[in-house]
Amino acid sequence: MATIISHAVVALTAGKLIPQKCITTPVLVAGIILSMLPDADVITFGIGIPYESPMGHRGITHSILFAFAISVLITLLFHRKQRYDIQAFATVNLFLFISTVSHGILDAMTTGGLGVGFFIPFSDQRFFLPYRPVLVSPIGFENFFSSWGIAVIKSEIKYIWIPCAILFVAGRLMLKRNT
Ligand SMILES: [Zn+2]
Repeated sequence: MATIISHAVVALTAGKLIPQKCITTPVLVAGIILSMLPDADVITFGIGIPYESPMGHRGITHSILFAFAISVLITLLFHRKQRYDIQAFATVNLFLFISTVSHGILDAMTTGGLGVGFFIPFSDQRFFLPYRPVLVSPIGFENFFSSWGIAVIKSEIKYIWIPCAILFVAGRLMLKRNT
């Protein structure tokens, strides 16, 4: 995995670049939570499910289908209160989908672990992207506060945070020019 902070940075950037009123603070927070949610699957290690299983780490919760299903579900929950029109519904849904699916994409850019099961349950194959600059994050806190953890943060700042910051500033400038 990449660290949960970097997953959140990507979701936040996506949310801030969508120039729609429907991306409210609660929706933004939901997107950030969804960007971290797939790693809840680390509990499967504790109950003896092997990493390579479709139900294991980087398995079903990192799939495109999971991202689609959970984003529709959460959008429907918001819709019950907000009564979105079709455009707002689609926008919120798209943002929540991007937030969730971005998790697997970042993981597929890391140097370690098994690949990501993007197409589970249709295919159990695991994938990495051809370009994998992000050092894999240690699992567990005691490993995180180590030289490995510091190297991971450095690589995430370089390959995730800075590109997101550049995207954010460039996107904001473009939006300003168009208004
Ligand atoms: Zn993950």
